[in-house]
Amino acid sequence: MTVLIINYLYHALFEQPHRGGSISNIYSQMPQSSIISKVDFDKIRKDFPVLDQKVNGHPLVYLDNGASSQMPAKVADRLDHYHRYEHANVHRGIHTLSQKATDAYEETRRKIRGFINSRYNEEIVYTTGTTDSINLVANSFGSLHFKEGDEIILSQMEHHANIVPWQMIAEKTGAVIRVIPVLDNGELDMEAYKSLLSKKTKMVAVIHVSNALGTVNPVKEITALAHEFGAAVLIDGAQSVPHQPVDVQDIDCDFYAFSAHKMCGPTGFGILYGKKEHLDQMPPYRGGGDMIDKVSFEETTYNVAPLRFEAGTPPIAAGIGTAAAVDYLTQIGMKNIAEHEQELVQYGYEQLKKIEGLRFIGEPEHRASVLSFVFDEIHASDIGTLLDKRGIAVRTGHHCAQPILRRFDVPATTRASLSFYNTREDIDRLVDGIEYAKSFFEF
Ligand code: PLP
Repeated sequence: MTVLIINYLYHALFEQPHRGGSISNIYSQMPQSSIISKVDFDKIRKDFPVLDQKVNGHPLVYLDNGASSQMPAKVADRLDHYHRYEHANVHRGIHTLSQKATDAYEETRRKIRGFINSRYNEEIVYTTGTTDSINLVANSFGSLHFKEGDEIILSQMEHHANIVPWQMIAEKTGAVIRVIPVLDNGELDMEAYKSLLSKKTKMVAVIHVSNALGTVNPVKEITALAHEFGAAVLIDGAQSVPHQPVDVQDIDCDFYAFSAHKMCGPTGFGILYGKKEHLDQMPPYRGGGDMIDKVSFEETTYNVAPLRFEAGTPPIAAGIGTAAAVDYLTQIGMKNIAEHEQELVQYGYEQLKKIEGLRFIGEPEHRASVLSFVFDEIHASDIGTLLDKRGIAVRTGHHCAQPILRRFDVPATTRASLSFYNTREDIDRLVDGIEYAKSFFEF
């Protein structure tokens, strides 16, 4: 019985490798009917029931997508259908309902593979989010490869999720953390990065798109440089996967981490992409059911990757909902989303720049979806509170990226983070809201 189930899973996961090729190749393989050629983003906005409400007497303007994006009705319906009619545990039941749930849950792996263009389904590890994905690599890869004096390179603009797990494993193994500085315009100092690289470098872990500044980092170049020294590369893709096509074979990174709830999916589910050659060698990170081959009190042997990393009953509904989110985004087209958001973020930048006293934190050449700013005389939380009174949701604070705020000598910023369902009208409302907030302060 155990053998049957393991065989079933093995065959469900192991398929022909999918070789390189751009994301546009993937779209060209999709049936034409599933591609919207000229996207009507105003119509798409209606897919999100949550946006159609008043907050504090004003129509909601949701500009906190960096924290969590909203969910289209199709994804919510998929979750609802699963909970009402399809729920059973996965990977362990011989009965029909369990097999159906397993099929639907494993289908997500195939969809994610296509979405980020990994070679194999078994390079897709299910986690609970970006944070969990990075902890997995730090613990498993780190305990296998790091030793005293080895170096882990991070950047000054990392989210805490891509700092703290490395500090914890560095403390255990004696590895040392080195930091790529950030220039005044919010871009990485690539010359400094090159000078940090050496034979001692075992891991380079950097953010693809900064959640605090919006900077898009040159991850392909960063990866190629690290590989010249034999170092592995992890990319934190939490803020990139929802906003642009991502092709992990093209980047050639060793690991790529992201979260479903920032890409129109449910909370509690995330992905770790890892090259097969790494995952096959890496020890499990958590023990329990599902991740084993045989268990006795004398000896336990482990399942194959990626199942080896997925102990216990997983977030089944969230996994299935994530497949619906991937379908939804794929149907709009990530290239269309990227183009639309670029136009919107540029409009936002130009409009906000006109506001007296407003100062952007980070003015990178390549920016995605994030506008982060301060007023020297007004605390960000006051701006955020007053915007909320006008129905405008933004994030204020350090955005879980304290080192980069310290670099710019500010305790907090106000961050408007966009998604494809935002409009120019949302930006205009934000500008009005900021002027309203400013009117409470004299300077
Ligand atoms: N990395 C970045 C760049 C983020 O923006 C976030 C969340 O805001 C994370 C990591 C952590 O993601 P999660 O909380 O979904 O694990």
